[in-house]
Amino acid sequence: MKAHGRSKTLIDLEKFNTLNPEGCPACGRKFELGELVVRARGNWEGERYIHEDEATFDRETNSYYERSYYKKTSE
Ligand SMILES: [Zn+2]
Repeated sequence: MKAHGRSKTLIDLEKFNTLNPEGCPACGRKFELGELVVRARGNWEGERYIHEDEATFDRETNSYYERSYYKKTSE
């Protein structure tokens, strides 16, 4: 399957309900309806939804990374 690159998602009621028991793994805050999130790699298993402004897009791998995690791995 071809990757679509930067895909941003809006928090709708379904995501609000499924993601908010844990909240955002990057900042620990809860998601708000209408916020932009992306699936990103970070200090966790696989890809998780985090706030879009906490993510960095990496062109080489065509994926988002949590910012501090990305800094650490690219040093
Ligand atoms: Zn966040």
